[in-house]
Amino acid sequence: DMPTVAIVGRPNVGKSTLFNRLVGRKLALVDDRPGVTRDRREGDVAFGGLKFRVIDTAGLEEADEDTLTGRMRLQTEAAILESDVVLFVIDARAGVLPADRGFAELVRRSGCPVILIANKAEGTGGLAGAYDAFSLGLGDPIPFSAEHGEGVGELHTALQETL
Ligand code: GDP
Ligand code: MG
Repeated sequence: DMPTVAIVGRPNVGKSTLFNRLVGRKLALVDDRPGVTRDRREGDVAFGGLKFRVIDTAGLEEADEDTLTGRMRLQTEAAILESDVVLFVIDARAGVLPADRGFAELVRRSGCPVILIANKAEGTGGLAGAYDAFSLGLGDPIPFSAEHGEGVGELHTALQETL
């Protein structure tokens, strides 16, 4: 059976962009309106000799990003339950927000192995947020850019060690 990897994080951090990069096709809708309702998406990934199924968790119509609504929590919890590894994504430009801490708590409680991704870290704008991410207590963040393909090598190494 193929291992399963869930992409988890608050709306607008770049989960769907990462999903599309891993799957190699634009299966997930990327949208910069936070909290636009999107279906959960799954895809098969072949990534430098690794094969796994990836789940992109959707946003919600809830406009308040700091609120972990019940539906989003349930969907995220269900995805984590099915998964062997969680890719926990934060926006390195925005830094760590209260909503990130809420999702981090869900992941921590699940006991599922987690790889922390500080996305949007291209250029210098993401450095502060990437350092901020250490405070989540989910391990060392990988500075990443789903849009520009930076950090892909480090992610591969982390997945290889975890899967
Ligand atoms: P999701 O809600 O977590 O699925 O986030 P999306 O993948 O829909 O992306 C939200 C916004 O962030 C979109 O405007 C993306 O183009 C943008 N985005 C995603 N990845 C990156 C990145 O690596 N760098 C930058 N600067 N923007 C990104
Ligand atoms: Mg999305």
